[in-house]
Order: sequence, then C-alpha cells, then structure tokens
Amino acid sequence: MLTVEEAILAILNHVVVSTANNVDLRDCLQLVLAQNLSTPHDSPPFDKSMMDGFAVHSASFDGTGDQKLRVLETITAGTIPSFTVERGTASQIMTGAPIPAGADCVVPIERVKLDESHPETLTVCGSDVAAERHILRQGSTATSGEPLMKAGTLLEPQHIAVLAEFGVANVPTYRRPTVGVLATGDELLSIDQPLTPGRIRNSNEPMLVSQIQRAGGNAVPLGIAKDSRADLSVKIQKGLECDFLLLSGGVSAGTMDLVPSELAAAGVVQVFHKIQMKPGKPLWFGQLHRDNHTCWVFGLPGNPVSSMICFELFVRTALRKFAGSPSPEPRYIQATLTEPVTVKGDRPTYFPSRLEHTNTGTTATPVQWGGSADLRSTADANGMCLLVPKTSAYSAEEIVEAIIW
Ligand code: AMP
Ligand code: MG
Repeated sequence: MLTVEEAILAILNHVVVSTANNVDLRDCLQLVLAQNLSTPHDSPPFDKSMMDGFAVHSASFDGTGDQKLRVLETITAGTIPSFTVERGTASQIMTGAPIPAGADCVVPIERVKLDESHPETLTVCGSDVAAERHILRQGSTATSGEPLMKAGTLLEPQHIAVLAEFGVANVPTYRRPTVGVLATGDELLSIDQPLTPGRIRNSNEPMLVSQIQRAGGNAVPLGIAKDSRADLSVKIQKGLECDFLLLSGGVSAGTMDLVPSELAAAGVVQVFHKIQMKPGKPLWFGQLHRDNHTCWVFGLPGNPVSSMICFELFVRTALRKFAGSPSPEPRYIQATLTEPVTVKGDRPTYFPSRLEHTNTGTTATPVQWGGSADLRSTADANGMCLLVPKTSAYSAEEIVEAIIW
C-alpha cells in the first residue's frame, strides 16, 4: 500500500501539463499563465497629471510670493493639449490628462486663487510650485520591454487588471481540465428523488462537481451507473472522453465493487490501488492513453467523506499539475490544535476540522466527526488536519499540519 506522499508523487509523475492556448482575458480568472510576458509599452503611456489643478512652468517662479497667470486652455482626461505653458501662463488640467509642453508642475485647484470676475486669470503662490510635483512621468511605473509577468502565475483579479492595462486581450494560458463525474451504486437516487427503502441520495456528484469548480475545472456530471458491467462500461466510455474521470464507489472489496475491473477492461492502466490513510484507503488511480488523448482516472471511495478528502489531497493536486501550476502539491500549513484529539488506528488520518486565522497564527478545531460516512459533520469544517498515529492523544496547543479546502 502506498503512503500519501508516494501516491502524490505517482500522480505528479503521470499527469502532464495541458497544452497552452490563448484565452480571452475575461475568461482567465485562476488560469495559469503559460509564457513570460513583457510590457508592450510604457506605463503610464504619457506624462500625466495626478491632480485636478493648473499645469505651470516651475522655473518661472523664483520666490514664494504670488504670481498672476493667464489661463491658456482646459485639458480634460483623454484630450491633447494645444498650447505650450511658459512664464506667466498656466493650463487648467484634470487628473489623468496629459501634461502640456513647457509645464513641469501641477498646482492643485484647492491651492490657487481664482477670481470669478476674471476667469481667464488665476493667482498661484510660489511655495506651491516645485518641479515634478503631482506629475506621473511616462514609463515611471513600467518601461516598455521590461518583464511584466512570469509564466506560472495564477491569474487573480490583480493580474487580470495589469494585463488589461497593457492590452493583453488574449492570454497564453494552460487549459482548464474537463472532469467527468460518475457515481456508481444500485442504492443511489438522484438528489431530487424521495427516499425509498434501502436507498440513499447521490450526494457525491454535487459534492465532486462543486469541488471541481472550486479547483477551476469544468465538471461534466455523468449521472449514476448501476453496479452492473453493462451500465458501468457504457458510462465509463463516455467519461474517458474527459481529461479526468472521477468515479465514486465500487472500488473496495465488495462483490459489487466492479470499478477496477471495468476500468481495466476499458484499457485504463492501474497506477495504484489503496493508500495508507484514513479515510480514503480504497482510492484507485490509473491512466488511459488512446488516439492522442489521455484520461487520468480516479476511483474514489463511495463513502462521502473519503471521496471529499481524496479529492482535496489527490485530485486537486492532479488538476493543478494539468493546469500548469508550478507548485501543484497539497498545500500544508501549520495549525495549533484548540482541543485534545485522539486518533484511532494505525493510518495517518485526515481529520475534518475548522481552521481559523487568529492574531497568533492558524488554529485547528477538529469537528465532531464519526468517520467516513459522517458527511453532516463536515458542514462544520473548512479543512482538515493531518493526525499521525501515536501512542498518546494529541493535546491542545500541539502544532499539526493542515490543509484548507
Ligand atoms: P462503495 O465504495 O460503493 O462500497 O460505497 C461505500 C459507501 O458509500 C456505501 O455506504 C455507499 O452507499 C456510499 N456511497 C457510494 N456512492 C455514494 C454516493 N454517490 N453518494 C453518497 N454515498 C455514496
Ligand atoms: Mg457501491
């Protein structure tokens, strides 16, 4: 049986990064940039005013006294100045408007004296004038050709804004994976059906679909497969058209656990089956390569919490690798336990927990959790703690590794 770390390595060794393509900037949120980009032009692209006020020629003020100036024009944002500012003149200017030739200072409107009966003139005090004041020079935040953004950047709103500023309307990014979700089990009802004896609802499908969406993938729900070879094989074929296929259930040792053999029959080559962990021990992983298309297949345990946790640890890692993340591995943080907790058994346990950021660091409070079938308690969790088997219980204040979902 593989350890979690060995399984992660095996997944990373098999999943390959998707091909890059150009995507409309508006659809790039949380995609990974596939190329280094450099700035195509200066920023700002012209000398601009940072204030509403008057553009003046600073060298023509020699003292701190008042000087009367003649107003040449009003330059609004988006227009081009027509006059050169010289000794004795000023141009009214708005924030964001280009600085006129001759001017090298903007005196804010609040600092000048205006005379309503003589709108063609104003009075400026020399102490409000200094070269470069309230001007942002062309290229002062970025010069054309300098590095802008590195390949591997996960595009968040701030990156989208920067790319928009530089007119990168089509962005070279790695592809979002398509991820098929196929729940298996004769007992499963779709979520809108009333319960009947012996049946339960297919909670894994909406759970996995939303986990895929949170991870930036395109989920493809494939419904419920009966525990029969005929139904499984047809639905598996459909799922294998995706980049990833997640099956839930049917991977343990029961007589109806047909998933591994049906995957093998479909040509999916097993990479591993079973992991030394709790919950999630029955996890199955394999790969199909056919006609220039690869599908990576996870057989997730049917028990909902096992499936949820296996997704966060293993599937999410695989999706990150495919999507071009330079650090696809699970993201452990350190958290301080708020209360004692005992782990039973001899396998590392991923315990659903409430992780909170406090003034003194992250804390972890394990939820009242009854095991892999206890889905309800996960509604109190937003992550999981890794608790390794040890002779004594974990005490409050002990530091553990944790993963935020
Ligand atoms: P299995 O791995 O198929 O033996 O299923 C293990 C447990 O998980 C059983 O109690 C199943 O009823 C339950 N289970 C399997 N699939 C789902 C599902 N899609 N949604 C909720 N529970 C499930
Ligand atoms: Mg089953």
